[in-house]
Amino acid sequence: MADASIASAREILTGLHEVMASRTSAQAKLNKVVNIVAEAMHSEVCSIYLLRDGLLELYATVGLNQSAVHVTKLAHGEGLVGTIAKNVEVLNLAEAASHPEFAYRPETGEETFHSFAGVPIIRQERAVGVLAVQHADPRAYDDLEIEALQTVAMVLSELIANAGLIDRRAKAGEADRDAGMARLKGLKLVVGMARGTAVYHQPRILIEHTVAEDIEAERHRVYSAFRKMREQIDTMTTQAEFGTAGEHHEVLETYKMFAYDEGWSRRINESIDQGLTAEAAIERVRQRMKRRMAEIDDPLLAERMHDLDDLSNRLLRIVSGQLGTAAQAGLPPDAILIARNLGPAELLEYDRRKLKGVILQEGSLTAHVTIVARAMGVPVIGRVADARQAISEGDTVLLDGDEAVAFVRPTPAIEEAFNAKLAAGQKRRAAFAALRDVPPITADGTRITVMVNAGLRDDAAALTAVGADGIGLFRTEFQFLVSATLPRRESQQRLYRSVLEAADGKPVVFRTVDVGGDKQLPYLHGLEEGEENPALGWRALRLALDRSTLMRAQSRALLEAAAGRELRVMFPMISEPWEFDEAKRLVEEQRAWLAARGKKLPSTVLYGAMMEVPALAETLDILLPKIDFLSIGTNDLTQFLFAADRANPKLAERYDWLSPAILRFLRRIVRACDEAGVAVGVCGEMGGRTLECMALIGIGLRRFSITPAAVGPIKAMIRSLNLGGAAELMDRMLERPPDNLRAALSEWAAEQNVSLS
Ligand code: PEP
Ligand code: MG
Repeated sequence: MADASIASAREILTGLHEVMASRTSAQAKLNKVVNIVAEAMHSEVCSIYLLRDGLLELYATVGLNQSAVHVTKLAHGEGLVGTIAKNVEVLNLAEAASHPEFAYRPETGEETFHSFAGVPIIRQERAVGVLAVQHADPRAYDDLEIEALQTVAMVLSELIANAGLIDRRAKAGEADRDAGMARLKGLKLVVGMARGTAVYHQPRILIEHTVAEDIEAERHRVYSAFRKMREQIDTMTTQAEFGTAGEHHEVLETYKMFAYDEGWSRRINESIDQGLTAEAAIERVRQRMKRRMAEIDDPLLAERMHDLDDLSNRLLRIVSGQLGTAAQAGLPPDAILIARNLGPAELLEYDRRKLKGVILQEGSLTAHVTIVARAMGVPVIGRVADARQAISEGDTVLLDGDEAVAFVRPTPAIEEAFNAKLAAGQKRRAAFAALRDVPPITADGTRITVMVNAGLRDDAAALTAVGADGIGLFRTEFQFLVSATLPRRESQQRLYRSVLEAADGKPVVFRTVDVGGDKQLPYLHGLEEGEENPALGWRALRLALDRSTLMRAQSRALLEAAAGRELRVMFPMISEPWEFDEAKRLVEEQRAWLAARGKKLPSTVLYGAMMEVPALAETLDILLPKIDFLSIGTNDLTQFLFAADRANPKLAERYDWLSPAILRFLRRIVRACDEAGVAVGVCGEMGGRTLECMALIGIGLRRFSITPAAVGPIKAMIRSLNLGGAAELMDRMLERPPDNLRAALSEWAAEQNVSLS
């Protein structure tokens, strides 16, 4: 049978070519196709089901009762045919009736057939129908037979599109078929709510023609597409900006290996020989690889096959001329971006005013793209594996980042509920916006300093938009994370200057580069080896002191940018006081260098340390006299105090910031700073939460640097809080902590009418 199918592959395509060219009706063409396939494959049955009004309708058959045509209809997901369409996958069964999804339809008379093979008819990655063959004998079909069916399905897809037979409701993954709505659950990456139109980062490729008119011309097209793709990959690998080491490089090397893989190009050429167009041939080989991929159990190998799939897409794009991402094409006014994954730079290419939300098939909490999206204020949900199947371009999507769900093609009821939640949020935000020019003073008259965390050039604008006292943490590493190469000193300087200008005299605290750990830079040597415990590893100041050229360049950029103004510099992850001395020495060295050359210097330079490593708390008596301010990075500090990885979702809810351990620890630090007369603040996420911030004020903190979106709620909380009462409460609570400190604090806040929204 296999030999017969090899020999007949060409025969089938020749037959299909004639069918496509004939001037008969679509129905007549479909009738012809089932005959051609049944004959070539010696199968008793061949049937075509097409989606119509959301149901898979038997459109043409040989072997089943003709009276069943246009009568037998299966729901999406029902029976073998429905399962193929729903999962967009092949079924190859020696005994059809033993499959759990088998649904017997008496009108078809199919009980006499044992074996069954079906393939989806795909249009833009979605099943619009199913092509199936059946044999009387129980037998499994071999790979070549399945491939022949997939090729026919590809041609059928073109045929039914030309005939206008594509069902408008042909949407796979419809969880709720009646309403057409899908509810997708993912991983919470960036909170927030958004409503918009789905846009694919890389639009689906549409294969217009499947049967070749001129085989030589197709071969030539594939040949030049390969050449172009290889050139692209070569340029990428040799470009100095990508460096010559690291994970990134390894990926590119794998790409290169595949791009030059003879077997791959040979298989594509073989398909062209059989009469397919370049696009159809690439797609056919890709489908074969995808089938293999599904069978691979080794995650490493599967990952490699993913790379090959990516390359197939690249090749398809080149050959079909469908290039570029949605960023280049331009977004509709409210866009929800759908992507497998994104790099931070790719995300930054999008128009921030139009991009309302992102849904990723992959993605993780610490991915750079997540950090950048958070800074951009764009809600993101990740790990939505079937996003591309369930969402079509142009679909309305309601994205609820707070719950990590997305509603696709929402029902009116869902839309109403979502709008109500959105409106409540907007109302709250409007109320908070009204606090923009109102100072954060407690009900009993203490002025609290509320600054914002920032990292991107545009963030400085948020400072005035929310009415904050300054930038309490400028994460300079963002610029490093979004660059393909180490940012040059000049471009660092330009960024710092523009931030200082936008801050318009309000203080800005620049934190020196905090990379390593969860923030990897592909171009920085030494990071590529991989560490057992990256959070405890060679990161932040540890790395910066070892790579002092980097630190020197950044120091110079900061000093130059702040010429004539006040400069505040802060060092991350200090574990012992000497690290601060060493870091300060490097900056001072640059100051002296500039002074010796008569350059304009900052009017003052203030030095700060971040309190993130618990060990530092034991040497505050040594550290405090040396520094101008201390900033507590609760994100890192609490992960070290609890020995709980901040990026591990399994631990995310396990330990509470509102624990006696953390609050007592922080109180000790605050008291030590107060005694030494050193300004102390909190710049971790903890300070941006109302109840947590209330507790922090209660233990003596007066300075906060928080995410801009939290400024309104925090100001409202502060203005409703009696500081004396909070201090008394915290003394009591930490003296004899209740079992549930959070609950006790919430209760007190409710009694005192403290605004916690
Ligand atoms: C922190 O650790 O609390 C902090 C503010 O720094 P980052 O989140 O950038 O590590
Ligand atoms: Mg930190």
